[in-house]
Amino acid sequence: MDIEKFMKVAIEEAEMSVAEGNKPIGAVIVDLETKEILSKGHNMQVTEHDPTAHGEIVAIRKACKQKESTYLPNVALFTTTEPCTMCISAILKSKIPQLYFGISNKKLIDNGFRLIPFNNSKLVGNSSYTINIHGGVLEQECLEQRLRLK
Ligand SMILES: [Zn+2]
Repeated sequence: MDIEKFMKVAIEEAEMSVAEGNKPIGAVIVDLETKEILSKGHNMQVTEHDPTAHGEIVAIRKACKQKESTYLPNVALFTTTEPCTMCISAILKSKIPQLYFGISNKKLIDNGFRLIPFNNSKLVGNSSYTINIHGGVLEQECLEQRLRLK
């Protein structure tokens, strides 16, 4: 699977968020069998007047509708930033087995972003779901985009 190709699509999605006045975070869900993109999402909190409309949640909702399924056991989710506690919970509850993210929450904080620090490893470790998490995919591009678009 071309991991960087899919992360680049997530970065493009993040670009769209800002045009609509939202935070620059994008997500893509890829079907692991066909290697095709199942859904794309970007942050829509402002557009939708919805604090839960994070890019990952938007992409999960679309993919579940498309699959007509509550669960997504055969997909990979790509997101430009490490999923927050709400999103990692949704990812686990969706039974998504693979997660790729660009920049970590800690790295954003280290670069001056005023974010709530979180630690997903405890949540993931205590979960009954199995997930493989790969951070730092195109990290520099994701960081530069965040610094450029805020
Ligand atoms: Zn989130």
